[in-house]
Amino acid sequence: MIYLDHAAATPVSEKVLDAMHPFFTDDFFNPSSAYLPAAQVRARYEEAKGAIANFIGAKANDIVITSGATEANSLAFTAVSSTRAERAPESRKNEASTSVKMPKILVLEIEHVSVLENAKKYDYDTIKVDQTGLIDLKDLRQKLTDSVELVSVSIANNELGTIQPLAEIAQMLREVKFDRLRRGVSTQLLLHSDASQGLGLLDINVARLGVDLLTMNSAKVSGPKGVGALYVGHDVRLHPLIYGGGQEKNLRSGTENVPGVIGFATALGIIKGHADAARKKYTHLAELLKNEFKNCEVEPVYHGNPKHSLASVVALSFPGLDAERLIFKLESREVYVSTGAACSASKGIASHTLRAIGLSDEEIAGSLRLTLGVLNNEENVREAGRIIREVVNNEWRRLNG
Ligand code: PLP
Repeated sequence: MIYLDHAAATPVSEKVLDAMHPFFTDDFFNPSSAYLPAAQVRARYEEAKGAIANFIGAKANDIVITSGATEANSLAFTAVSSTRAERAPESRKNEASTSVKMPKILVLEIEHVSVLENAKKYDYDTIKVDQTGLIDLKDLRQKLTDSVELVSVSIANNELGTIQPLAEIAQMLREVKFDRLRRGVSTQLLLHSDASQGLGLLDINVARLGVDLLTMNSAKVSGPKGVGALYVGHDVRLHPLIYGGGQEKNLRSGTENVPGVIGFATALGIIKGHADAARKKYTHLAELLKNEFKNCEVEPVYHGNPKHSLASVVALSFPGLDAERLIFKLESREVYVSTGAACSASKGIASHTLRAIGLSDEEIAGSLRLTLGVLNNEENVREAGRIIREVVNNEWRRLNG
């Protein structure tokens, strides 16, 4: 098989599995137990947390381990002082008369559903993107009213690969905060970024980026699924989503997922320091893939930003063709690709991201997302490219006699 869907899932490497294994068997102890072997497991857990935090330039104490990026995104939003549900209808009425505003969240319109759906719990608005998926900074600046408490912009988009200028956004937020202070406005203003898709390809350092909250995802870097982390800046106050034994500094109760965290840390250890090499490799492989489409009967339209995109993502449309059919035909040749985001694809809903960048219905219907990763090399990428070209040509001939 040839796998071109690394943005959806990645295989766990042998090295990661080997590192996790003892924590299912010999070292199965609950890290909160009082005896020595349990304390040793606690020490290994904290060490692994330290390595995960270090990957983004933080300390073990600055991160909360979660069940993945969805939970991390959801937890990040609890930094906002109150949700719609928490505000009683009576006090909402008063708001209208006293001009006290609901705290507001701004999210990029092409965020992953785990960000968008969580934003709906709050008063929220979306920030526009251009045709390449790049944030419209003017739109952000206009919408940064005094009631905005949190801005959420992913570091790289999961469908297009477009990389956002986070440091620039952070600088804008600093200026707005300074202006608020000057005017005596005391509302907080935090920057959250979902970095699920950037780990291993981009230089992600929380201080350099200037973020207050950052989501990490083990499943996208050949670590185990169901593990993630949220970086929480020192001035940020979160509210737990899950109550119980008080683990993770009371922010995420439940017995620690020791093997998962060891696996995540090991996976990050493997990719650490290799971002430049990974970028070079995927840029080259993406070129090989695109070369194969040059003589297609249907000329592909590429999406994303030509300068600011993840090297591993090839987002494209074959206008006039049906991507679902292409995927089905490719599957029978054991080539696995995706239409837009895997989650919206499985529900058969047209991707909100592709709509937001202004694609026509025809382009959306014929859109594929090919994402490169550890399972790819020159040979299988060329082969996949040839097979995709054949399938596209066959489909075109079927439709055009
Ligand atoms: N955020 C982004 C950008 C993603 O690509 C994904 C996974 O597809 C998620 C969040 C959700 O991750 P998980 O399913 O591990 O919670």
